[in-house]
Amino acid sequence: MIKIADGIAPSGFGEITDEVANLIVEECNNAGKISSIHVAESESTQIESVEKSGKTEIGRGVDSNFNQLVHCTNPKNDDLELIKNSNANVVVCPRANATLNVGIAPLNEMLDLGIKPVLGTDNVMLNSPDMFRELEFTIKIMSVNYNDYLNPCELLKMATTNACLFDFDKSCIEIGQDSQFNVIKHFSKNPYLSIINRSQTKNILYTINKNIK
Ligand SMILES: [Zn+2]
Repeated sequence: MIKIADGIAPSGFGEITDEVANLIVEECNNAGKISSIHVAESESTQIESVEKSGKTEIGRGVDSNFNQLVHCTNPKNDDLELIKNSNANVVVCPRANATLNVGIAPLNEMLDLGIKPVLGTDNVMLNSPDMFRELEFTIKIMSVNYNDYLNPCELLKMATTNACLFDFDKSCIEIGQDSQFNVIKHFSKNPYLSIINRSQTKNILYTINKNIK
């Protein structure tokens, strides 16, 4: 599997032991692939993890050195500090969390700590893999949650360039990089909000990516 896939991503610590987690991380590191795990999606799995191992799921994910922690919707204790002090990237999936009724990821608290999350659509059985819809839902649910707007530029980075901070070989517009970008129809004055609130895939005018023929 590791030869073909981009990496391995168990859906939580409920299905694997810490020994298996360490093995997955080691094998992914050896193969240059991404080790990823879904953690702290629900409050109940966090409580179970603390009861079973004395550590939160986020604590176990950080201790096992996973490259990527998906969800982190229900951090407990010093979980956010642990993430901040680790090399792991966080993928937040607000639409999937709302579908499963497990809460809202604390994006403002993450940003205040200097964590640079990535936005994801999670499981295709729950959601369309459509980043425009994820962006729009995220800015709106956060506006309700915090009674304030997320910075739209920071949100757009979560769907685009934040991935470049974690060596995923994704493109950034930089000397020596093969840039990949979309040109999108412009609807309103604020370019970030124009993409987040109003754009759909049919509004992509051009896709520049040498890997797509
Ligand atoms: Zn998930």
